[in-house]
Parts: sequence; structure tokens; C-alpha cells
Amino acid sequence: MNRPYNFSAGPAAIPAEVLELAASEMLDWHGSGMGVMEMSHRGKEFMSIYEQAEADLRELLAVPANFKILFMQGGGLAENAIVPMNLAHLGTADFVLTGSWSQKSLKEARKYVSEAHVAASAEDSNFTAIPPTSSWDLSRGASYVHLCTNETIHGVEFHELPDLKALGSDAPLVIDFSSQVASRPVDWSRVGLAFGGAQKNIGPAGLTIVVVREDLLGHALPVCPSAFDYKIVADNQSMFNTPPTWGIYVAGLTFQWLKRQREGELSGIAAMEQRNIAKAELLYRSIDQSQLYVNKVAANCRSRMNIPFFLRNEALNDAFLAGAKERGLLQLKGHKSVGGMRASIYNAMPLAGVQALVDYMHAFEQQHA
Ligand code: PMP
Repeated sequence: MNRPYNFSAGPAAIPAEVLELAASEMLDWHGSGMGVMEMSHRGKEFMSIYEQAEADLRELLAVPANFKILFMQGGGLAENAIVPMNLAHLGTADFVLTGSWSQKSLKEARKYVSEAHVAASAEDSNFTAIPPTSSWDLSRGASYVHLCTNETIHGVEFHELPDLKALGSDAPLVIDFSSQVASRPVDWSRVGLAFGGAQKNIGPAGLTIVVVREDLLGHALPVCPSAFDYKIVADNQSMFNTPPTWGIYVAGLTFQWLKRQREGELSGIAAMEQRNIAKAELLYRSIDQSQLYVNKVAANCRSRMNIPFFLRNEALNDAFLAGAKERGLLQLKGHKSVGGMRASIYNAMPLAGVQALVDYMHAFEQQHA
């Protein structure tokens, strides 16, 4: 089946192989006589799916043994409350603002943290840059430092995580990696907790991945619901309440797909990273060389996953989107808060999809020169 290329920011494209396998197992998973959605989460069939998914994610992301992987619900926005409810026992938390998603995290944390402190903000650049770490004003004795590793709307990505210790902070780093997870390796030596919704790079909406260092467990504020207390979730292998079983299953199929990916000598996440670099370079080069399109993000923090761009002649926006759709290039309209266009090119987007977009952009520009 020849499917269009889907550039949605999320829920986003899932590899066709994964969808086909899920479809073929929909009514009967491995001869059990049950579809995955119909199974007890505590039964041996689902437990085997869960254990494999957890082990595969741990292997793919090279998650160290002293971190727990939790499969939760509520998405990135719920984590904006769940993180402070679990970690903010020392009162203060620091925030690095690089776009809409870190701004939202700050706003929500204010409900639970006695002092939510802005350590750095890129607002005066309209979120087109990351303030240099040397300018960050980190608090003493903070519970944690929060940042969003990839701002899905503004297209700003951290290509290196800060070394908080070297910057004089002993606080654990919390990263929202919703739109970056599984696109590149993670330097766990610099991270205390990572969270992200699955619906961009991993699987269906409804599943949230949390990776948390064990020493951060067990400090939840009294207000924290038991189902969101990381220690309770961890002690119960993510089965304190019924986990999003379908999401975990499809995520597991995606992890298997990721493990099969190869680029030359590289495999898994390293292979994906190479491919993601090549895809992003192709698109940025084509934007930078054109007279019609523009991306305003500083070169050192341009996102590999979400590439916002604008037509210098905005009157052409509708024609651009209509022509793209005709060519099977879907969901390119930019986020309503910034306008313009946005191409989200997560793992499931092949290089051929980005090439098709670049070819179309070029043809459209010629036609309207
Ligand atoms: N953080 C980031 C970086 C996101 O891109 C999103 C969703 N686009 C969220 C958080 C919010 O996720 P959810 O809608 O799953 O709550």
C-alpha cells in the first residue's frame, strides 16, 4: 500500500511495518485467542509483552541499571504536575525556558513548587535560540532543574545536555523529551529524570514513558495521587493501576522495529540518529538556499525533529498546503501559535519523504517566482 508522507507533530506517523503487524495480530495475539486489548494486564501473555518492551527500550536507550522505566498515562502535560509532586520536596525548582512547552511546564509546576525560578529564558529572541549555559542563574539547593530537550512548536533542540555539576548545581536534571525520545542517544550521566508522551516517536497517544533515577524515588508530596507516585508505580512494575496496555504493545513493536534498523555499521538508535541528521540537513539546506522559505532558529539549536518554516509571502500559505496535500504530503500546517509551516520528521519518516517535500518546495517556489 502506497501511503502518503505524514508530517504531523503528534500523534505522528508510525512505521507501516508496525501498523501491519499490529493489524495482523488484532484478533489473535500469538495463538492466545485474544487480542492484546482484551488481555488481563497481569496475565502471562501481557506480562511477556510488557517485559520485552521494557527490556528493548532499556537496551535501545542504554538506560543504566539504577534507573527505572515506568509506563504511565497522562502525557507530557500531566508530567508537568507529576514531576513537581514527586521531586519538589526541597521547595525550589529551576526552569530553562526555550519555547512553549517549557513555559507550560513552569506554569503548571507553580501549583506545587514553593519557588519556581526561571534560570534562563529565550523569550526575548522569540524562542529562536538557547541561552548559553554560562548565563544560567541556577538556584542553590533546588529540587530539580527542568528543560525541554526539543521544543516541538518552536523547533529548538538541545544538541548537548548541560552538565549541571560543572555549572555549580547539585540538582537532578529533568528533561521533557516528548518529541526527541528515541531519535538519538541520551547522556544519562547528566539526567535524573526523563519523560515523554509516546505519540510522536514511539506509538499511540495514551502512553507516557518516564525514566527515573532510583535515588529520586520516595519523596512525593502528600498531595500526589498514588497512581502518579513514581515509587509506587516503580514498585508495582507500572501495574499499580491498569497501564495503557495497547500503547505498551505498539510501543514494543516499534522498539523491535528500531532494533532492526541499520545505517552502514550502525544499528538501532545510532542508526536512527544518522538518518535523522541526514533528513534534517536536507530540509534545512533546501530552506536556507531558497528565496521563498525561511527558518529563524539559530544554527546550533535547530531541531532535527520539528522544522518550522515560513513562506516570505504568506499569501501563498493556503496554495502551498493544498499543493502539498495533492502530492501526498500531509499535515504541514504550522502550530496555530506561530503560524507558517512545520515539518515533523520523526523516526518513521524516511529520507525519501523529506526528499519528496524538498522537491515539492522547490517546484512550488519556481512556479511562484
Ligand atoms: N512536551 C512536548 C515537548 C510536547 O511536544 C508535547 C505535545 N505536543 C507535550 C509536552 C504535551 O504532551 P501531551 O499532549 O501528551 O500532554
